[in-house]
Amino acid sequence: MQGLMMDTPLLISSILRHADRNFPEREIVSVTIDNPDHRYTYRDCFRRTRQLANAFVKLGLKQGDRVATIAWNDYRHLETYYALGGSGFVCHTINPRLFPDQITFMINHAEDRWVLTDPAFVPLLESIVDATPNVEGYVVLTDDAHMPATTLPNAISYESFIANESSDFEWPNLDENAAVGLCYTSGTTGDPKGVLYSNRSSVLHAYAGVAPDVLNLSNKDCVLPVVPLFHVNAWGTPYAALLAGSKLVFPGPKMGDGEALFHLLENETVTLALGVPTIWMALLQYAKSVGKKLESLDRTIIGGAAVPETMIREFFEEHDVVVRQGWGMTEMSPLGTANSPKAGMEKLSQEEKFKIQVKQGRAIFGVEMKIVDDDGNELPWDGKAFGALRVRGPWICSDYYKLAGSGGAHYDGWFDTGDVATIDEQGYMTITDRTKDVIKSGGEWISSIEIENTAVGHPSVAEAAVIGIAHPKWTERPLLIVVRVEDQQVTTEELLAWLQGKLAKWWMPEDVVFVDEIPHTATGKIKKTELRKQFVGYRLPT
Ligand code: AMP
Repeated sequence: MQGLMMDTPLLISSILRHADRNFPEREIVSVTIDNPDHRYTYRDCFRRTRQLANAFVKLGLKQGDRVATIAWNDYRHLETYYALGGSGFVCHTINPRLFPDQITFMINHAEDRWVLTDPAFVPLLESIVDATPNVEGYVVLTDDAHMPATTLPNAISYESFIANESSDFEWPNLDENAAVGLCYTSGTTGDPKGVLYSNRSSVLHAYAGVAPDVLNLSNKDCVLPVVPLFHVNAWGTPYAALLAGSKLVFPGPKMGDGEALFHLLENETVTLALGVPTIWMALLQYAKSVGKKLESLDRTIIGGAAVPETMIREFFEEHDVVVRQGWGMTEMSPLGTANSPKAGMEKLSQEEKFKIQVKQGRAIFGVEMKIVDDDGNELPWDGKAFGALRVRGPWICSDYYKLAGSGGAHYDGWFDTGDVATIDEQGYMTITDRTKDVIKSGGEWISSIEIENTAVGHPSVAEAAVIGIAHPKWTERPLLIVVRVEDQQVTTEELLAWLQGKLAKWWMPEDVVFVDEIPHTATGKIKKTELRKQFVGYRLPT
């Protein structure tokens, strides 16, 4: 027997309608290049979003057509998300930090018809305009007064683009599986692959995101996504925050500026901020240098890369801020796990709590996970067995865009994340490596992430990366690559002596080398492929 419930499609336009009706006065604050302090309400935002939707329809876009954005986090980018996705068009977010040939590939592969860009990226787009001939025009996210001179064809300022449009727009009653957003993975090898989110997956992901053990979002919150709107939809905050009616603060081009972030957090009384570990290093360094405490911030969601214990401690001990680690990936919209305490854990000592917080967290409802051995056999949740991490759920990619059969649910309906992990008895998952970064020594796996996390606990270590170096007896042994804190002179011997006892004996790095800089991907992850190239001829001391 079937249930007798309404079959209402899950559409992102329904989030917008709900937020418009229930929280019209809620504020959205943005830093933009043309206005360092732009403020307006949800009501204003949705009025302009409807104008923008009308402007897109006038371009003659058809359902499913892609439009790219190359832009920082601000109110115009948010309006674009909803105007495109709500009308049945696809918002293809592009990371401006990628190489021009990668951006060219993405625009051509996605067949983007129009591009919306911040003024700062106009020169970048001009440099690839001949290689992207199918783009019909460009909307520059500014007003006429700040419109840069450009040779881009059919370039118009955003404010002119929407100026004469009606603010009445009937959001179409789409199929809930209609695509809403497209984001290419930042893969370090091969061509980027597109992940195509649907209305349904985005709404379910937003429902899951607001839950207490995940982002714990409500109307009372003020949210600062430092994670970019071009990095997996700023981890879903444009949908989750509006669904909950939270105030939103967008840092625009000030993403990596510790001082600017500090002032935004304080002045806007932000309660939740989200970002990758490197962003928070800049913020914590600034706060320390001026001897200031973060007063209003309650919690941070940190993910995208492993969060060092030192960072969790510093947030808690200096600022009373709880770090909640999250793990996920572009193919997962991105939320997979969140690290929140279970009942009874409040009784643990602070030291024991820190030990749990460095884990990547527990699966959130909607995501099933398991670890498997090389033959695909499921491994136990005992905190010791390492295995390939596989996931499934309604916001996990089933196939890459225009690459049918390429990569989605290939393992009996499970998606292989490319991560290697352990899961403990309580369900807390710990990433030990990317599959391709795993160090195999004497037939056993060594976790490069754990060595890196331990090494950054040394006060003279600013950043650490570990790669495997070929070894005649053990196949591979770990090499620790370190960027020292400025003016600190720790030596290889001192660092190795300090690590003794903190790592299993056979996990001890064979050697330490000091470098000025560790290469990063466009999303802030350590670029191990590059490091392996750099150290290709490196010989471990005998
Ligand atoms: P991306 O698709 O660019 O967001 O990258 C996803 C990958 O980032 C994951 O498969 C992990 O390897 C890594 N990652 C994300 N969050 C974490 C985390 N909290 N700890 C360790 N690695 C992470």
